Amino acid sequence: MDLSSHQEMDDLHWKLDLLDSIEVGIVVIDRQFRVKVWNEFMHNHSGIQPDSIRHQCLFDYFDEIDQDWFRQKTEPVFTLKSPAFVIWEQRPYLFRFTSYRPVTSASDVMYQNITLFPLASRSDEAEHLCVVVYDVTDEVISKQRLASANQQLRQMSRVDGLTGLYNRRYWEESCEQEFKRCMRNQGTSSVVLLDIDYFKNINDTYGHPAGDQVIRTLAKAIRQIVRETDLAGRYGGEEFALVLPDTSAEAALQVAERIREFVQKQAVVYEEHSIPFTISLGICQFNPSFKGYMAWIEQADKALYTAKDSGRNNSQIQGR
Ligand code: GH3
Ligand code: MG
Ligand code: MG
Repeated sequence: MDLSSHQEMDDLHWKLDLLDSIEVGIVVIDRQFRVKVWNEFMHNHSGIQPDSIRHQCLFDYFDEIDQDWFRQKTEPVFTLKSPAFVIWEQRPYLFRFTSYRPVTSASDVMYQNITLFPLASRSDEAEHLCVVVYDVTDEVISKQRLASANQQLRQMSRVDGLTGLYNRRYWEESCEQEFKRCMRNQGTSSVVLLDIDYFKNINDTYGHPAGDQVIRTLAKAIRQIVRETDLAGRYGGEEFALVLPDTSAEAALQVAERIREFVQKQAVVYEEHSIPFTISLGICQFNPSFKGYMAWIEQADKALYTAKDSGRNNSQIQGR
């Protein structure tokens, strides 16, 4: 061998070594989709030896590849010699490989980004193209984790810690949305405000933690009684607020009374104490003459005061 062919051999070995040591999949195919190069990454993940797949049609080995789609995708790469890309958001993977990473047990499949590029040839069209497979599983999983953490944060920022009901800010936002919806559709929704009677006495007699337990019990009762589509929030210390969509004042009164009677029958057991308690409720149906959603809430609050004034443990509809 002369010097130059030695150099060429070295060159080839280096290239093959490189091809096998990089952490991406390299596949070269011809226009009949026959495999010409299959690197170690592809061998490792598919279990298919380079020797057995070489000169075989790719589609015979991988059912998961949508042939029509893949032909269409590779056509311009061959004919126009322009590269093409497939990102995991479009298709999670080209080759269905298992993801082995111990930390990423969150996913069984390997997510892949794919690059298709033509291999140089003298003719107008490329005879071969190279498929590069990038394992992006870690990236995808951290992205998904971030998305779910954000979702949880969003949820947490809406919810009151003690009761699990909506907090005041989110409840008011929802109330405003419902107000606008009623304005557009001449809706008949109602707002209900409820407040525990003589709650200061409960705190004074049994202590603040017992008071908290009463608040939690009331929240649970509300959750059990209202519908999925109703919006229940903690409006203040021992005040709660409901938006009941598509519910007239009369229908809201039935809901209010159901909660009131439920609470009245049930005493909260805290340590050695059995603590009876009652609530008062104010109801106001939407009215298009309201200037804004706050006016709606204020009217419900007026009804609540009427309920307090008329002896507590009752429900009142505003304006009747
Ligand atoms: P009324 O029948 O007129 O409503 O009498 P009330 O004693 O319930 O009066 P008010 O609504 O003004 O009292 C609310 C009390 O609730 C005052 C406050 O100390 C207590 N409170 C507010 N937030 C909490 C809380 O998160 N936990 C406990 N245990 N108590 C709270
Ligand atoms: Mg009270
Ligand atoms: Mg109060």
